[in-house]
Amino acid sequence: MIARLNHPDYDRWATQVRNTGGCRQPIHLRGKVDHYDQATGQLLHRYTTRHEPDGILRLPCKTRRASRCPSCAETYRADTYQLIRAGLIGGKGVPTTVTSHPTLFVTLTAPSFGTVHACREKNGKTLPCHARRNAPTCPHGRATTCTTRHSKDDPRIGEPLCPDCYDYTGSVLFNALAPLLWKRFADAVRRHLAKHGGLPLSELRHHLTLSFAKVAEYQRRGVVHFHAVIRLDSSDGPAFPPPAWVTADALTHAVQHAAKVVTATATATAPAYEDEPERALRWGDQLDVRRITLDGDLTEQAVAGYIAKYATKAAECVGTLDRRVNPLDNLDAFNLRDHARRLIATCMRLGALPELAGLRLADWAHMLGFRGHFSTRSRRYSTTLGELRAVRERFVHTEEVAHGRLPLFDEDTILVISEWEYVGKGYSVGDALLATAITGGGQ
Ligand SMILES: [Zn+2]
Ligand SMILES: [Zn+2]
Ligand SMILES: [Zn+2]
Repeated sequence: MIARLNHPDYDRWATQVRNTGGCRQPIHLRGKVDHYDQATGQLLHRYTTRHEPDGILRLPCKTRRASRCPSCAETYRADTYQLIRAGLIGGKGVPTTVTSHPTLFVTLTAPSFGTVHACREKNGKTLPCHARRNAPTCPHGRATTCTTRHSKDDPRIGEPLCPDCYDYTGSVLFNALAPLLWKRFADAVRRHLAKHGGLPLSELRHHLTLSFAKVAEYQRRGVVHFHAVIRLDSSDGPAFPPPAWVTADALTHAVQHAAKVVTATATATAPAYEDEPERALRWGDQLDVRRITLDGDLTEQAVAGYIAKYATKAAECVGTLDRRVNPLDNLDAFNLRDHARRLIATCMRLGALPELAGLRLADWAHMLGFRGHFSTRSRRYSTTLGELRAVRERFVHTEEVAHGRLPLFDEDTILVISEWEYVGKGYSVGDALLATAITGGGQ
């Protein structure tokens, strides 16, 4: 730390740290960028990391996981908010007329895999978890009731009353098949809309586009569910409304119908496993479908904020691990709660079955079987994270020109040749303390 502070290039180092926006684990790059005049071949400008502190450039890691880097995750959350919002009220290249298109906010949940401890509140009072008179005990001799009034932060919430009765196989397979179940759900919505319009399915895309943005959220019991914005556009995308025969009511019916009928079967990727020949998974009964309107109780702002909030959360909020599990790892050494350990162990056990190899459960054991994306949008929903990043990078570039670090040039006549090499990431302990002091902890 003292060496860093006394070093002559300390100021430049501090600037690099500030430019990463408080990233906790910046990427280290070594390389150069040359700007040549296309016509004469003359080298106009050269940037090389050779003169940077430690000979490297530090860039933000751009993770979306708050447990790894709060500051980059915050950037990701803010970007997600902007693009969800653009899809709801326009902006960022989406016309404001999208507000007139039928739009729903839909929550698709997982089914029950066994009774779990819950925090129940009614009129501000906490109720007993699962109170039942004369309830029998389970085959393992455990009570099937719980009269505890659990507070919101009770670590037992989401954990089963009897772990031996709990369907861990079902829970893990549901997470693994959830992306397929979503795809089948979207297809079923399209099929239902086509039927409603008296069209063959193949014709539907010439009449309308189903646009959506969704995020996955882990419930405390360790299963994912999805929150989605589903919108109808013209066949050309969000610039025009869909035909008048598809109303918000028609879309609501299609969503309710599709959520009920679709299934994903583990044997679709596997002929058989253990003693069960096949396992069909479907959405849970708790389906929430609400209309998003400019003046109603569910506003665009609220929905965009809600979706963005979940975009940076991963499975670690249910007490699992923040990294991949190695088959040789001793799970007992990780100090996990029993429920999380059993979910991970189930992934490792099922992942070793050749019939289920396609689900790659061992690779995704730390995610409790889910290997989908946390936040996805259909192509026509709104702008993309990549475009938002490009805008930000152009802004940084303009700043560099303004400060004289890059020459002002006409992009068409200049040839840019860059060479970059990844040489590591993160900070030493001393550098991390200094970086925290410079950027205020990156919060
Ligand atoms: Zn970062
Ligand atoms: Zn309980
Ligand atoms: Zn039991």
